[in-house]
Amino acid sequence: MIDKEVSIIGAGPSGISAALYLKRAGIPFLLFEKNIPGGKIAFTSYIDNYPGYKNRDGVELALQMQEQLAENEIEITFDSIENITKENERFLLKGNKETYLSKYILLATGTKEKRIGLQGEERFYGKGISYCALCDGALYKNKEVAVLGGGNSALEESLYLSSIVSKVYLIHRREEFRAEEELIKKVKQKENIVLYTSYQIEKLYGTKFLEGIEVVSSLKEEKEFLPISGLFVYIGFEPSFDIVSFPIETEDGYIKTDEDMETSVARFFAIGDVRKKRLRQIVTAVSDGAIAATKIGNLRNEEYKRER
Ligand code: NAP
Repeated sequence: MIDKEVSIIGAGPSGISAALYLKRAGIPFLLFEKNIPGGKIAFTSYIDNYPGYKNRDGVELALQMQEQLAENEIEITFDSIENITKENERFLLKGNKETYLSKYILLATGTKEKRIGLQGEERFYGKGISYCALCDGALYKNKEVAVLGGGNSALEESLYLSSIVSKVYLIHRREEFRAEEELIKKVKQKENIVLYTSYQIEKLYGTKFLEGIEVVSSLKEEKEFLPISGLFVYIGFEPSFDIVSFPIETEDGYIKTDEDMETSVARFFAIGDVRKKRLRQIVTAVSDGAIAATKIGNLRNEEYKRER
């Protein structure tokens, strides 16, 4: 069993920020990642609202964050934490490779993609349905695809896809988009993005691979078949914390924290997209990580003073 004072679970922007702050404070910790460091930004094609970062490429930003960890001699522990329980005054983390014990937890596990809920949907994942335009967009070069959703992700990724594919059908269930005005303007200017607002997908067609979808308008009660070979789903996310095996206070399904990111469970912090907050962006994620790490530093100092 590996014993480390703090465990950060998830190496997205919030986890990486927490790691940098803990390192500077000289606090021993482990930073866990089960997949690719960088979190969602490693799968994002375009970033233009993170101050100081003018490059705009998500993968590049994820790589730069990783490089910054290396420069600060912070290693990532590549293990998937499957379960967290309470063991007296500590937390026991069961990973795929090892078991760990920590006094403080920083949960930075983010969110996972929501499913559409259509019949046969699972069958087409990786065979026409994708959650990642950046990863799979090139497979649909000069073909017709659809994007589902009306938030920042759907519009940003529609713009990205429009430079690869021949046509993007952007399908949104309401007339108004949820995305930022600037993005809406850009999307409307693109000739090969066709807007299907107030439309829902009703049916998926295809044998082995997706061959088309049936959409229905909620205004006209009309059905239409769109002969697409790719469907990119951007309908939001749900918080990912099923590894936590003890009761924890939530709000609207997300983990509730105080101003210092501490949850209803003492010494258990939630940072980034997994926690209840108004704005889920890189800028707020890195801020969460810094605040929580600083609070852990303060708690340790108080404890040290009490013990003297
Ligand atoms: P989101 O903002 O939650 O938008 C999800 C979209 O999917 C909404 O338009 C929603 O419609 C639609 N939707 C939800 N369930 C659906 C269903 N079952 N069928 C059809 N449509 C459905 O998700 P997101 O765009 O992925 O963004 C997530 C968070 O990350 C947001 O806070 C966003 O601002 C942030 N983000 C920021 C940036 C950026 O700043 N550049 C980029 C990407 C994401 P309704 O509108 O009708 O609810």
